Amino acid sequence: MNDRFKKFLDVQQPESPCLLLDLDIVRLNYESFAESLPDTQVFYAVKANPAPEVLNLLYELGSSFDCASMGEIELVLATGAGPDRISFGNTIKKKRDIERAFQLGICLFAVDCDAEVEKVAQVAAGSKIFCRVLCDGTGSSWPLSNKFGCDSVMAVDVLEYAHTLGLQVEGVSFHVGSQQADPGAWDHALAIAASVFRTLAQRGIQLKMINLGGGFPACRLHHVPDKETYGRAIFSSLRTHFGNCIPETIIEPGRGMVADAGLIKAEVVLISKKTKLDTRRWVYLDIGKFGGLAETMSESIRYPIRTPRDNCEKAPVVLAGPTCDSVDVLYEKTPFMLPVSLQIGDEVLIEATGAYTMTYASNHFNGIPPLAYFVI
Ligand SMILES: *Cc1c(COP(=O)(O)O)cnc(C)c1O
Repeated sequence: MNDRFKKFLDVQQPESPCLLLDLDIVRLNYESFAESLPDTQVFYAVKANPAPEVLNLLYELGSSFDCASMGEIELVLATGAGPDRISFGNTIKKKRDIERAFQLGICLFAVDCDAEVEKVAQVAAGSKIFCRVLCDGTGSSWPLSNKFGCDSVMAVDVLEYAHTLGLQVEGVSFHVGSQQADPGAWDHALAIAASVFRTLAQRGIQLKMINLGGGFPACRLHHVPDKETYGRAIFSSLRTHFGNCIPETIIEPGRGMVADAGLIKAEVVLISKKTKLDTRRWVYLDIGKFGGLAETMSESIRYPIRTPRDNCEKAPVVLAGPTCDSVDVLYEKTPFMLPVSLQIGDEVLIEATGAYTMTYASNHFNGIPPLAYFVI
């Protein structure tokens, strides 16, 4: 934990549970992306953390924004950013939202099928589009699976169709899966993208842009390579697959921008066992799946947790949230190691929680308010 978090907790003593966001870390992450991937425009994936303070900072730093809905678009416009800095990157959009976005001046849209192309062509004539291709997410902790994108053969037809409907076909996008631990994961996707570029060139359509997506990991979640290593691996794959004709590139980091900037202060509410002979303790916190830790679903994201007794011996526990829903268990299949001396009332600090937490908190389920946050 850095000194700024420590000082804020000591001085302000905010009520638990709450999320602290350190904007200096967001700034460092932005700068590190910009340095590691020069000539690549950053479109911050707003869904990872849409706090106005985060968006304002990224706007000042020169970032563009990847938005999934009108609500996110309005948040970004409120920073003062012009519509030219916004991509409507969700492949699943209502036609009336495409129309409203277009009226606000947004003219960059993601598609992955003919039906979505038709919507854009009808209400946002002449806009720029890119087609998302499938990516299996191997190597990532939170794969985005089959829900988004189409295969490369179909992508060619989708882009050609968009071209015939008068849209400006920019290029190809993909997402290698969130918390991607393998910098080489972009290589396969870039090979697919290059094949789409080549086939369309044969049909007389020149693509010019590759959207490399998100997937850049939070460093504090696992031991992962730094952003520079990702940048080098991606550049080397671009060289392999595009030679001297490297297209324009953009990235859409979400987690990699904000996860490490967040720290959740929580509290132990109860420690118990289920039978007299039970060797395994259950530890219940005042935050769980419905309080913002939804990414513990399938136990794929394992947050580092600090306690005041970390010098003591540790033993496995089942870690659970406070609500009256049986799915509100954080880690059970793979038990979590916590100090044997842990006490009810102890403060626990959950690290790397700046992404995908605040907005995943439920709206007063069991009377618990959405996760409060403080910017430091
Ligand atoms: C969620 C999302 C991102 C951000 O992904 P991270 O893994 O958090 O970096 C980027 N692009 C799109 C289209 C997304 O849906």
